[in-house]
Amino acid sequence: MAPVNVTVTGAAGQIGYALLFRIASGHLLGPDTKVNLRLLEIPQAVKAAEGTAMELDDCAFPLLSGIEITDDAKKAFDGVNVALLVGARPRTKGMERGDLLEANGGIFKPQGEAINAGAASDVRVLVVGNPANTNALIASAHAPDVPRERFTAMTRLDHNRALSQLAAKVGCAVTDIKKMTIWGNHSATQYPDLFNAEVNGQSAASVVNDEAWLADTYIPTVAKRGAAIIEARGASSAASAANAALNHVHDWVNGTAEGDWTSMAIPSDGSYGVPEGLISSFPVTCSGGEYSIVQGLEINEFSRARIDASVAELVEERDAVKALGLI
Ligand code: NDP
Repeated sequence: MAPVNVTVTGAAGQIGYALLFRIASGHLLGPDTKVNLRLLEIPQAVKAAEGTAMELDDCAFPLLSGIEITDDAKKAFDGVNVALLVGARPRTKGMERGDLLEANGGIFKPQGEAINAGAASDVRVLVVGNPANTNALIASAHAPDVPRERFTAMTRLDHNRALSQLAAKVGCAVTDIKKMTIWGNHSATQYPDLFNAEVNGQSAASVVNDEAWLADTYIPTVAKRGAAIIEARGASSAASAANAALNHVHDWVNGTAEGDWTSMAIPSDGSYGVPEGLISSFPVTCSGGEYSIVQGLEINEFSRARIDASVAELVEERDAVKALGLI
């Protein structure tokens, strides 16, 4: 089988450093799939990416067929099968949201165009760089020949955080928890849903049986975990974000476990009242390389209000990038 072309943008960054070695050792696509890595960086970070590539060489990974480093998006995405868009413009102090969206438009528009021009017909795109949902929307808007379902954004780290916080609360193993869902935006408004999650087959919300804890402790702890890590570590989460990116693509390609689902931000088909086309997080199952939204879940009032608030934020972001002419 020909190696799979995997492009990583922002390859010299923190997440990139935690991601590349695991892709090359088979954690993205499995232990039988060879990969060609394409590293995209801005010109001033190409040298650092070359250093990472030297280390990748020094690992002599059996699955790593080749590494190319470039600052040219067209080259980076030519023939790409899996695109991990990690590099983004972080929000800096005093930066307005419009400036942030505009700066990211300058990154994700040309990347969308390059994916449109050169990607393989089976390309799958995961956007990690924030604001991830809206960056994915921008890239997708500039790749009209690529089915829009191929553009996704990451809420898997939020999902994993939701699992581990719940396991700690109820004193179970993370593997005892199934059917966790993150709804909405990868932001502080995201909603981890314990009403449809299960702990050893029982409703997680009834196992916890404490709505005040859910509203005042659990949801904010999951949503603000990134800030807590910055506070403790002095740097933002990188290894856990990389791990979640691997989980997202691995499950998309290889399928979710029977009787379980995962969370992915994907273009809405209108399910659960989320406006069509918004890239919002849903419960999904994956099979045969495709995902589908889990249908028929009950959304109670508590959940409805929170899902609506997060989706309203996504609508605002979409309208803002539309007003800037980015989509
Ligand atoms: P990181 O590798 O730590 O983060 C990269 C992006 O991932 C940021 O937008 C960050 O958002 C986002 N992210 C999403 N989820 C998480 C999470 N849970 N924890 C942490 N980050 C998360 O950033 P670095 O600054 O170390 O590296 C970025 C690299 O990207 C640099 O090397 C830069 O040169 C490169 N870059 C490349 C571009 C390109 O290839 N065209 C364009 C722009 C930058 P947030 O900041 O909100 O945490």
